[in-house]
Amino acid sequence: MKFRSTRGYEREMTGAEAVIQGIAPDRGLFVPTEIPEMPFDIAEMQGKSYQEVAKAIIGLFFDDYTEEEMQRCIDGAYDGKFEAEEIVPVVKAGDAWFLELYHGKTAAFKDMALSILPYLLTTAMKKQQEDKKICILTATSGDTGKAALEGFADVEGTEIIVFFPNHGVSQIQQKQMTSQEGSNVHVFAIEGNFDDAQTGVKNIFQDESVHEALLKEGVKLSSANSINIGRLVPQIAYYVYSYIKLLEQGALKCGDPVNVVVPTGNFGNILAAYYAKRMGLPVKKLICASNRNNVLTDFLRTGVYDTNRAFYQTNSPSMDILVSSNLERLLYHLSGEDAGEIRRLMADLDEKGRYEVPDSIRAGLSAFSAGFADVEETDQTIGAMYRENHYLFDTHTAVAYKVYEDYRRSTGDETPTLIASTASAYKFASSVAESLGVPETDGFRAIDAVHEYTGVPVPRAMSGLEEKPVLHDQVIDRTEMKEAVLRALS
Ligand SMILES: *Cc1c(COP(=O)(O)O)cnc(C)c1O
Repeated sequence: MKFRSTRGYEREMTGAEAVIQGIAPDRGLFVPTEIPEMPFDIAEMQGKSYQEVAKAIIGLFFDDYTEEEMQRCIDGAYDGKFEAEEIVPVVKAGDAWFLELYHGKTAAFKDMALSILPYLLTTAMKKQQEDKKICILTATSGDTGKAALEGFADVEGTEIIVFFPNHGVSQIQQKQMTSQEGSNVHVFAIEGNFDDAQTGVKNIFQDESVHEALLKEGVKLSSANSINIGRLVPQIAYYVYSYIKLLEQGALKCGDPVNVVVPTGNFGNILAAYYAKRMGLPVKKLICASNRNNVLTDFLRTGVYDTNRAFYQTNSPSMDILVSSNLERLLYHLSGEDAGEIRRLMADLDEKGRYEVPDSIRAGLSAFSAGFADVEETDQTIGAMYRENHYLFDTHTAVAYKVYEDYRRSTGDETPTLIASTASAYKFASSVAESLGVPETDGFRAIDAVHEYTGVPVPRAMSGLEEKPVLHDQVIDRTEMKEAVLRALS
């Protein structure tokens, strides 16, 4: 298996090379040169552990890793760090099955990929005999940052720098990041939103002067954002695994279709579900759920992607995004791998903040359905789900559930449905407390209020967090990101 850039860069790379580089030299994203078929008969995987499924799926894409290397990556990643023995419990509540992806170290689904990425990367460095230090540059809407910090803290041969939007993350998310320990970690709040942080990081990747200055220090840049293919591939595994769980529970017979609903920001998680479908998982509709920043809803309905619109801060901050990076990968596949077309679309996005896809790409969008929920609907959905089913979910998952209910009502489609549950409700405790009718503006008091009201265990990630000292308190302008990187690494 090889990987190539969505923008046509001439050289194809191995998995190890693509993971180290993060983003292609022409600013494109790495995609697999072919989408492989499922490596096993799904029915025969019943009873297998998460680790076994993940190894088969990830190993299929990264076949330049030896079996022993891949086993070590899997063993290091999916162990006692996860608070659920099955790693990803699949739970029925209301009208859907919830794929609880948040039982890792930082209580968000980002742990699913970011607990293995450091192993994939350090193994790749050994394979490539890379003698430089790798600096992981990361923009975060709140959850990637902490998961990447936990994954890379004190990992030999690496530095990690995280930029998060000041005022753009929940109080709990912010404290998780600013209290991070480790001799190789650097955390900055920027005055701006997530799109500013992500654009700033992409600009640094493009800046030759940065690369030259860093090479003198013996440092190379890579990324822990979902622009890195090493983030995406591990995410395919849990869609396959959850289908197997539904077989085991008797909710499906092998081959029966499922719908998959994903609360979407940067389009990484739903793209992983798309890859699973392309590999042969019987997925009927991929349902893309957005909050009030509904640029993807409009795009999937009309074929026009337009970022010239207001940006809203919502109660599902990890989806407060207008420029969804991974959409570029989908467009590439749907265009028949036409890198010239992708360069044109991305040039339009840079110059006009919008693009319109040709009919050839638009036809492929019919695999998707899309909808959005506003802040109030999100609130009400959390309250109603808890009252009716005693099931607690976070604001992002609530957006997904509301969009799913709308979809069912308008289509009459009763296909069994999996919803990606992307974070612990405790990460967004004040919003959730309000929805439950036990309002508490302080995030830490809200954790107690939600716990008292529901009895749902508080994740280990949150215990003692309030008392932890703040180790990173720098707030910088979004124009100062490059200088911050150079200073941190010199
Ligand atoms: C990152 C995140 C999302 C969005 O995922 P993408 O892969 O960026 O689409 C949704 N919910 C939560 C809680 C997240 O942290």
